[in-house]
Amino acid sequence: MSDEYLDGLCRYLGKIKTTGHMLLAAGLFATICSLLSLLSTLILFYIVDSRTLPWVEAISYLLPFSMVFCISYLLIRGFAAIHSKNEYLWEIAERDDLTRLLNRAGFLRRGSALAIKAERDMASLSMIMFDVDHFKTINDTRGHSAGDMALKHLAEILLDICRDEDVIARWGGEEFAIILPYANAQGAEIMAERLREKIARTPLLWKGKAVLLTISAGVTEWNHEGDCLEDMVERADKGLYLAKAAGRNRVQMFQSHLEKVPAYEQDVFFEEEQMASSAPSCASSSTKVA
Ligand code: GH3
Ligand code: MG
Ligand code: MG
Repeated sequence: MSDEYLDGLCRYLGKIKTTGHMLLAAGLFATICSLLSLLSTLILFYIVDSRTLPWVEAISYLLPFSMVFCISYLLIRGFAAIHSKNEYLWEIAERDDLTRLLNRAGFLRRGSALAIKAERDMASLSMIMFDVDHFKTINDTRGHSAGDMALKHLAEILLDICRDEDVIARWGGEEFAIILPYANAQGAEIMAERLREKIARTPLLWKGKAVLLTISAGVTEWNHEGDCLEDMVERADKGLYLAKAAGRNRVQMFQSHLEKVPAYEQDVFFEEEQMASSAPSCASSSTKVA
């Protein structure tokens, strides 16, 4: 059996949580096996024409069923236990402790899967990267716990506004990243704007006072000409940088490295790209959408 099928079986069995479901699954499996065993026993009796006692015959029918039932129950229990343990380990490895959103590793793993799917289906996929404006001031003036509460507050707003299929992560510090499957650049821009407005309209209540929060966001769309996740993240990050440079509390689309950027930022990008060209990157970095 290939790993893929085994993984599928494990995932399926992992969904079996209650003893009742486990008994049912074991019962079904055991019944199929026992019917086969019963059939083979009947064929055997028919061939040898034995005149066995009725209780011996009954045992010969029941014994395989009981054995198969017990073994399949234990196997299914084992699979389910391993699966839920694995799920728990993935959960703690891929979640941010403070906000319970995905962390960077979780984001990259799920983002890669979505990128592969979008590429295969030639579907739209977009990304928003945002950073809280002047977040350090909150820590400095109201304390670190106010900063922590602000991050949790933002996570709640994100979960409230985004769709279930969006991948939402705390990218690091006070920076967040979202991947929006089936959304093009315009859709993602509208979404980022809605998010920006909602955050600006929903202050954090801290010790009876309202703490205003604003964000600057970069938006980009997946291109089907050899894009890769690293490049997408880089573009969204540059959009975010431009939004900061343009005065904060705004959304900025950044679709191409060839896009015109203000003189000061262009110099910075030039330096960054010089560095990037000496570092290993994905194969597609030279083919960007114009
Ligand atoms: P800008 O508008 O340019 O983004 O300014 P900023 O003050 O938000 O940016 P800066 O990078 O100077 O400060 C980010 C701060 O975020 C510094 C760091 O201590 C704080 N920070 C990062 N992670 C956490 C966290 O988990 N909790 C708290 N309370 N603060 C954090
Ligand atoms: Mg910031
Ligand atoms: Mg930051």
